[in-house]
Amino acid sequence: MINYIHFLGSGGSRYVVFDLLRKAGGIQFRFGEIFLHVDPGPCALYMAINFGIRPKDLDAVLLSHKHLDHSAEINSILESMTTGGRKKKGLLFAPKDALEGEDKVILTYTQGHMENIFKIKENFEYTLKKYSNELKIVTPIRHDHGVETYGFLFFYKNYKIGWITDTKYFENLKFAYKEAKDILILNVISKNKYSNVDHLFGKDAIEIISYIKPKLAIITHLGKGLLKYGPERFAKELEEKTKVKVLAAYDNLKISF
Ligand SMILES: [Zn+2]
Repeated sequence: MINYIHFLGSGGSRYVVFDLLRKAGGIQFRFGEIFLHVDPGPCALYMAINFGIRPKDLDAVLLSHKHLDHSAEINSILESMTTGGRKKKGLLFAPKDALEGEDKVILTYTQGHMENIFKIKENFEYTLKKYSNELKIVTPIRHDHGVETYGFLFFYKNYKIGWITDTKYFENLKFAYKEAKDILILNVISKNKYSNVDHLFGKDAIEIISYIKPKLAIITHLGKGLLKYGPERFAKELEEKTKVKVLAAYDNLKISF
């Protein structure tokens, strides 16, 4: 498999993630010879070493935001990637509040082992080059999620892939990710809206998927109610309403493209 997306977890919300109902080790991407790990939350190291790309083979680690279900194991992954700092290597992309300040989640010690660190912000763009492979990484818009949060667009050869990570719905979201015509990953916590949490719900997913019309949409970061309802059943309903193929992620799901 030359290109793939590998879910090292599919859980969302503190109930699911910190009761370990599902893992939340993030997603690894392989674009040709380029290897990425995004949002290494709980179980990231275990899943990466046993089933995925070993951290020492990664080119970059990306963090969408500092909430612990996304970042709990980022220091472990970076430590493994750099063999405990013996070798300065790898790129790190993260929001400023994950890298600086009293409540940062990436230690100064770990940051010191990286070859390069990029503070992501709205409209950030970087082209990662390795051998003859070129991957453009874009963080198109700041999400509405309390802490500083960004999703990602990946452009590799003719493939256009987007990941809308945690956020409350707002209209510009679907415009910001409209280029994700091949695969669109969405963090959807629940079918129905509940309380005032800054997340996407079923009707938001329908709105976004219907507008962008990717070839494939994948929902992940699934909350407890959704697990009980049946993620596959929910994905089928989204598929019927949007006329787009929709999959519900599960731990260790690998999609090649
Ligand atoms: Zn979050």
